[in-house]
Amino acid sequence: MSDIIQLLPDSVANQIAAGEVVQRPASVVKELMENAVDAGADSIKLIIKDAGKTLIQIIDNGSGMSETDARMSFERHATSKIRKAEDLFSILSFGFRGEALASIAAVAQVELKTKKRGDELGTLIHIDGSQIKQQESIQCTEGTSISVKNLFFNIPARRNFLKSDQVELRHIIDEFQRVAMVHPEIAFSFFNNENEIFHLTKGSFRQRIVGIFGDNYNQRLVPVEENTNIVTISGFIGKPEFAKKTRGEQFFFVNNRFIKSPYLNNAIQAAFEEFIPESSFPSYFLKLNVPPSTIDINIHPTKTEIKFEDEKSIYAILRSSIRQSIGKFHIAPTLDFDQEVVFNLPYSYRNEEVKIPEIKVNSDFNPFHSDNNKKEPIKNNNYNQGYGSKSALNKINLSNWENLYDNKNEGDFNHQTESTQQRIESEGFEQSVSKLKYQLHQAYILTNVKSGLMLVDQNRAHERILYERFLNCLADHKGSSQQSLFPQTLSFPAADFELIKELLPELHALGFDINEFGKNTFVINGSPVGVQESEANELLESIIEDYKNHHEIKLDKNEKLARSMARKLAIKQGKTLSEKEIENLIDELFACETPFVSPSGKPTVITLTLNDLEQKFLK
Ligand code: ADP
Ligand code: MG
Repeated sequence: MSDIIQLLPDSVANQIAAGEVVQRPASVVKELMENAVDAGADSIKLIIKDAGKTLIQIIDNGSGMSETDARMSFERHATSKIRKAEDLFSILSFGFRGEALASIAAVAQVELKTKKRGDELGTLIHIDGSQIKQQESIQCTEGTSISVKNLFFNIPARRNFLKSDQVELRHIIDEFQRVAMVHPEIAFSFFNNENEIFHLTKGSFRQRIVGIFGDNYNQRLVPVEENTNIVTISGFIGKPEFAKKTRGEQFFFVNNRFIKSPYLNNAIQAAFEEFIPESSFPSYFLKLNVPPSTIDINIHPTKTEIKFEDEKSIYAILRSSIRQSIGKFHIAPTLDFDQEVVFNLPYSYRNEEVKIPEIKVNSDFNPFHSDNNKKEPIKNNNYNQGYGSKSALNKINLSNWENLYDNKNEGDFNHQTESTQQRIESEGFEQSVSKLKYQLHQAYILTNVKSGLMLVDQNRAHERILYERFLNCLADHKGSSQQSLFPQTLSFPAADFELIKELLPELHALGFDINEFGKNTFVINGSPVGVQESEANELLESIIEDYKNHHEIKLDKNEKLARSMARKLAIKQGKTLSEKEIENLIDELFACETPFVSPSGKPTVITLTLNDLEQKFLK
């Protein structure tokens, strides 16, 4: 049999290699930005069109390349950054594999213009899918400009696999931030479809973080400094009260390289442990410097993971320096957990005077008589008689509703509810409930219904009410808004700004009178009824947080927003309710379409039937 193994042509090998390096437009952005940084640029401009699907261009004022280097730069394993294996242990540049340009050129149409400092002429190279189409000398400015057009034009399957523009743009913003953050000595700008979404001037690390995330981050940052011979740590942590529900703002840079390290992240989480609520994540922007020989950055193809020689010591040092910062800046003691965990926005009648609930006791009431008109009490000696026997239980008219309220099987809730409600209506729920409504431990409303007692979880009930109300607003676009006396402008991090822009129609429907107002800024002229002007900002921020957090969950936009608004605005446990408030809450709950479950599927109401009570007293 003849031999069958052949070497793959370069274009095919490059395409295969590209599979690792170039997953999406954001990977191209990362590689090209890193090259510009490695080239010593102090000004870098990123231009993208259609979330990078049509164009990604990076213009830098770095070293530029000679004609030969320009041509060589597209060869695989062609790099100026290492020469021999030992160099791998002293890497201070971003790149070193010499794969990026070859991979990118294999899957896109690339145009490179570059001129070395001091040279008279520059070089233009045009490559389509690894094929050189054009190479010539041109007049151009010093530095390098690379345009990557129509990514994956020659691999339709991968092009089709790209996500929506919003998703791809978010990935690009992430990569941009990671490179820009750790190089405050370089000016960066970022244009998306001709809008400038970042304009970062040279400055300090703090100024860079604020430049990226917005002015209000300045007062959220607490410095961290630590100097040991194993590691030098510098940077900032976010104050605990600004901990987020998403991991978005966690940045580790080791020797200026953005890395992900679940292990070190754990050290920080541990340091924050008792200062933040359980399911939230502290923000941090930390630079670790270690001797290059003590890390291996070669273990992951996209290089966001590294291995440390002395991981355990770094863990301990990191944790204690974060603790120190938390302590030194006295940011811990001001924390009031209950306040932080629940977001206390006003229920529309929060400002009403609190009335002490009156307890009306019906002295004639006998729980074992379903018909309270019959005032004939059960004689004492009857209590022991026949309990557990069918006949005794039959005496109690349970009017069947305990079956309706039966919530042992949560999963069935949605199916039950309609009939439950119908039956409550047909049984005359109002009439069957006595006037007794009592707030227990500022958390539950206790009321007696025909054949037992009912406990309503005030928080969940209100969440259900608001959820349905907001869903209706979103469906009908008729959320009512109250105009602010003083319109506020709010700036957001660029990624959040883009997201809010996408959600503007929905936010209007919910009652936010909010509009774009320049770069990364909105102006709020009005907020949903019941939300104070001063709280609109915080509410918006947490809706966006929630929205990002639930990104993976398959809920539609409206549902996510309604849920999140309801969660934020619902009265919490711990709030004393007036009689009128209790009344309203119960009325509104039972006017809901699905009163018996909270938006996240938990019961809003539990009941103890007389039967249940009897059983308990039997024990
Ligand atoms: P690596 O960065 O791993 O060396 P690349 O494929 O990204 O590999 O780049 C190959 C080479 O091209 C680099 O080593 C560098 O010499 C040169 N190069 C790439 N981009 C630029 C740039 N913007 N300015 C100057 N030189 C560059
Ligand atoms: Mg590179």
